Amino acid sequence: MNSIEFADVIVVGGGSCGCVIAARLSENPDRSVLVLEAGPAFSGVSDVPAELRDASMLPIGPGSEWVGTYAAELTAAVTRTIARGRVLGGSGAVNGGYFVRATPRDFDDWPQSTWSFDQVLPFYVGSETDLDSTVLRRWHGSQGPMPVWRAPVQDRHPLTAAFVNSATNAGFGFEKDLNAPGAAAEGVGAVPSNIRNGTRVNAALAYLLPVIGRKNVRVQGNTTVASLIFNGDRVIGVDIVVDGVRTTVRSDTVIVSAGAVHTPALLLRSGIGRAEDAVALGIPVVADSPGVGRGFSDHPEVAVPVVMKRESSTVSPALEAVLHSGDVEIRPYTRRFDQLISGLTRGPHVFGVGLMRSSARGSITLRSTDPFESPDVRYHYLESEGDRRAMLDGIALARDLLASPSMTGEVDVPAMDDPLAGLGTSLHLSGSARMGPDSDPGSVLDDHCRVRGVEGVFVVDTSAFPVVPSRGPHATAIMFAERAAALMGVEPAK
Ligand SMILES: Cc1cc2nc3c(=O)[nH]c(=O)nc-3n(C[C@H](O)[C@H](O)[C@H](O)COP(=O)(O)OP(=O)(O)OC[C@H]3O[C@@H](n4cnc5c(N)ncnc54)[C@H](O)[C@@H]3O)c2cc1C
Repeated sequence: MNSIEFADVIVVGGGSCGCVIAARLSENPDRSVLVLEAGPAFSGVSDVPAELRDASMLPIGPGSEWVGTYAAELTAAVTRTIARGRVLGGSGAVNGGYFVRATPRDFDDWPQSTWSFDQVLPFYVGSETDLDSTVLRRWHGSQGPMPVWRAPVQDRHPLTAAFVNSATNAGFGFEKDLNAPGAAAEGVGAVPSNIRNGTRVNAALAYLLPVIGRKNVRVQGNTTVASLIFNGDRVIGVDIVVDGVRTTVRSDTVIVSAGAVHTPALLLRSGIGRAEDAVALGIPVVADSPGVGRGFSDHPEVAVPVVMKRESSTVSPALEAVLHSGDVEIRPYTRRFDQLISGLTRGPHVFGVGLMRSSARGSITLRSTDPFESPDVRYHYLESEGDRRAMLDGIALARDLLASPSMTGEVDVPAMDDPLAGLGTSLHLSGSARMGPDSDPGSVLDDHCRVRGVEGVFVVDTSAFPVVPSRGPHATAIMFAERAAALMGVEPAK
């Protein structure tokens, strides 16, 4: 592949948001767009391997060539190794396919100038084709790139069916459309998924690969961006590493879409972050921005073990229905994780209890200036009494539903010595380089995704969210990149 020396726009990271923004910005044939992706890339839709398409599996197991991992401290006592997508399509290429919109209330925390719920709704709608003919068309798209599908009632996994019965018998309403703006805050509902005919349709498949033939767009895989380069405070390009060789690509517009762990790490390596931390690592300070990597949020998730009374041969997506109650989301996973992720040793079947409005705020700091060394990531989960109480209440509710007559034909519920023993994370990390008002010294971006203190650098990915939404972030990531493209002058999709 010939190297490129200049592009009008460089997009760092071909993940969920990077694929969307690159596709949208390249609609203007006079603008050259270069996507630099750390993991493997593909030359077209048909080049994407079956392993990445198969929505019934998550290709993140030991030795997966599609992920990068980092060690994270969830609490002072609990560390976990966490995977993120490292491939064209990003984390959306390896995820569970749950594609639920954030709630209107979630946007109260976003800058109202550009990101109120009324302003983002058209971008949710424009990004999707909802395949369910019974949903209200007013809230749904029929021509957008991302398909949205719900498992039909008659095809539901027996465990999903029993869980839905258990929840409705316990008095929870059945929410027909979790993506409707008026969806009840509490209730059980079918999960909208970005799945079509068993394929997990990620943003590379939906947005970027279909337009890869455009003369003005170029995708370069296996390319790690080491740092942004500046002349004063104006960006003039990026330093990249390919096969161990470091070179430079010039551009005066760089969109950082490296995901919520690597975006702050890249900004920090580039001298945008807390000045004293940069100085300590010998990095020249370009902008003193204390919020970079600070104050991120995610969803703590506890695995509640169940014992299946009979094995089902049904091959389903990981999750077909969820229950919302208070601030928790209960996830009746259809199969054991070792059945969903190749290479894991056999473990228990679990239900997940996710805390969707956690007060925990985490930090990402550099261990060194090496772009291949993962940063230090600390979540500070369950430090507040309120979070612990909400999580314990959620676990108790999950166990009550599991023990109800509707479920006793399917599962036994083993005793739990320590209900919080199965603490993990939902892998929804967001807000590590967040948007916010001028008055907030911790905000890194203005309401147009521009990095404060420098010229020509934007962040368009889940790092930019002011806080993680109270639903999984993938649908919101796609909407976010669509809206960001519009803020950069691209006509919105109809
Ligand atoms: C295993 C897993 C399951 C999940 N399941 C769900 C789910 O079912 N539903 C849901 O809503 N959310 C889910 N999520 C979360 C969701 O997928 C992510 O929040 C979303 O995809 C993030 O999009 P992004 O664009 O911010 O980052 P990413 O999609 O992670 O993209 C970042 C990209 O940047 C690249 N990159 C990083 N650093 C560099 C660099 N220095 N140079 C060049 N490229 C770089 C990476 O390789 C990657 O391709 C899951 C996440 C994971 C990891």
